[in-house]
Amino acid sequence: MAKAMPTTVLGPEATDAMLLGFGMMALMFGFLLILPAALISDHFLWELPVGVSAIGVLLLVVRHFMIKSRVKTIEKKIEEKEAKVRCRYCGSLNEQKAQKCIGCGAPMT
Ligand SMILES: [Zn+2]
Repeated sequence: MAKAMPTTVLGPEATDAMLLGFGMMALMFGFLLILPAALISDHFLWELPVGVSAIGVLLLVVRHFMIKSRVKTIEKKIEEKEAKVRCRYCGSLNEQKAQKCIGCGAPMT
């Protein structure tokens, strides 16, 4: 039995969309600010758009790794599913260590 994933207030899709949204926003906002900062040519002003862009990149990187870890979990689940044995009489999926078919009760040897 697979243990249920701990549920947070935000589902994985919502967290995804949020990270993507804020990441892209910060990135674009940062890039938009670079131009006026370059025109004014103030050393302090350079740090703001570059920092905002860096936050955007960071959010997108975090999202990337979150998706990667989720894909891994899904792949693991599929692997577990494939590890099950199909009954040759009725086609029910059984645990590999099952002695009898859960569908028809036939011996699984
Ligand atoms: Zn069966």
